[in-house]
Amino acid sequence: MDDILELVKNKDPQEREFHQAVMEVLISVKPVLDQNPVYRQAKILERLVEPERVILFRVPWMDDQGEPQVNRGFRIEMNSAIGPYKGGLRFHPSVTLGILKFLAFEQVFKNALTTLPMGGGKGGSDFDPKGKSDNEMMRFCHSFMCELYRHIGPNTDVPAGDIGVGAREIGFLFGMYKKLSNEFSGVLTGKGLNWGGSLIRPEATGYGSVYFSAEMLTTRNKTLKGTTCLVSGSGNVAQFTVEKLLDLGAKVVTLSDSSGYIFDESGIDREKLEYIKMLKNVRRGRIKEYIEKYTEAVYSPVDPAHDYNPLWDHKADCAFPSATQNEINGKDAQNLVDNGIIVVSEGANMPTTPEGIDIFINHGLLYGPGKAANAGGVSVSGLEMTQNSQRLNWTREEVDNRLKMIMKSIHQTCLEAAAQYGTPGNYMNGANIAGFVKVVDAMMDQGLV
Ligand code: NDP
Repeated sequence: MDDILELVKNKDPQEREFHQAVMEVLISVKPVLDQNPVYRQAKILERLVEPERVILFRVPWMDDQGEPQVNRGFRIEMNSAIGPYKGGLRFHPSVTLGILKFLAFEQVFKNALTTLPMGGGKGGSDFDPKGKSDNEMMRFCHSFMCELYRHIGPNTDVPAGDIGVGAREIGFLFGMYKKLSNEFSGVLTGKGLNWGGSLIRPEATGYGSVYFSAEMLTTRNKTLKGTTCLVSGSGNVAQFTVEKLLDLGAKVVTLSDSSGYIFDESGIDREKLEYIKMLKNVRRGRIKEYIEKYTEAVYSPVDPAHDYNPLWDHKADCAFPSATQNEINGKDAQNLVDNGIIVVSEGANMPTTPEGIDIFINHGLLYGPGKAANAGGVSVSGLEMTQNSQRLNWTREEVDNRLKMIMKSIHQTCLEAAAQYGTPGNYMNGANIAGFVKVVDAMMDQGLV
């Protein structure tokens, strides 16, 4: 195992998040490899950590001042053993090859857990959507798709949204794909409802993360009703996490963006949530504006001098990190434990550092790792693909019921795999092992390709 990690580090020393994602999986799957030497003989790990294909391209676009701009575009086609590559596009200045490789690697196991036939991929750009006009967004998305379109297709690679890519961007991307390919197909998910999208897709990641937390709580005969919850982020995943928590009788007291966080002791109710949706999705404003309207809430800007995030230092029962990677470090995890948190459900991808994860697991918290807890989004993307192939639209209830069933099944799969390999109740091991076995068995069946 150490050899593989060394290999990965030596090949691409700067890809720290990718090393972190690989290490987490390697630790979990060690017992599986020990019991099945055939995997080692087939060099399955060496093959798994190498993307099947990496596409890197120039994205030139014109800003509103008539000034040419250039960004970098990426698509990582990580693994197609169990289906077409599937995974979101992220537009954020922090995007690098290493970030996207970590996300694509996680996506492979997550997609395997959903029970749907989807391989893993991820893509995006170092483009910063903040402060861009609708026209600039359109020009950028069109230029991005002018290259990407030749690499994707409904049976090849099906991108979706992620940070910085929501309904507006999917629309622009789809429009250019359709024009270039002369084909109306289910090549992207997260589409608008009147042109091939699925009901519940926008809600799916947040709702799914809450359903997963409810399943975890059931194992301790508890429910979300009456609990106090900390949620980070204020984008797609955070908003629908709050919505479902309200449906289930919980109180949410925090939300954030990359500039700071708000603490509202009286709880973010439905009216306040509607305001946040308008603020973030329509006005594209900042979370600090919340306190101008709800003056009893407190806003704290990010303090670079802090080695912890004060959002995680409030008394509560549940935590839903829903912003970005490594937003909970060891100190934050200890603060959560000290403040009485019983469940952590990761809406974001890899939001907890390895040190933080150890603290959660050693203190017996119900810890739902992102690749299980946030799999609801890609699951409903899979359901969108099915509806597109069948040229049918399912009702809201039908999609929501399927989402619930899938989250229940992922939860059960994690518990069973964790118990089978000697770590009962460890959802991280369970998720990694179950996803790994499904993918590598398919790779073994297909030979050395
Ligand atoms: P959005 O772009 O809708 O929202 C992202 C939110 O996170 C914003 O509030 C953003 O603040 C905040 N954020 C981003 N970067 C940072 C940072 N470095 N520090 C603090 N806050 C930050 O994205 P999503 O809600 O779609 O994605 C959130 C997370 O969920 C990501 O980890 C994503 O990979 C994961 N995810 C998303 C899925 C989906 O279906 N959308 C599916 C599965 C996982 P700001 O406005 O300041 O940038």
